[in-house]
Amino acid sequence: MYPFHWVPAGGARHASLDSRPDGAFAYPSGTGVRTLCGYRLAADNSELAWLWETCAECGAVAKRLAAASR
Ligand SMILES: [Zn+2]
Repeated sequence: MYPFHWVPAGGARHASLDSRPDGAFAYPSGTGVRTLCGYRLAADNSELAWLWETCAECGAVAKRLAAASR
């Protein structure tokens, strides 16, 4: 299991290493998360938000983390 989670926030799908609330599948809307690209954004857990494009910088970092966790 990768140590990061995807989180739609600020118009793009970012990844974060923040832990989610117990048992939650995603960060609830409004949760402040630190993204892998270095921002602090409010999560948007709406259905539409999950269709946003992946943040290129978070995608690159997530790829490195995934490779390192194998
Ligand atoms: Zn990002």
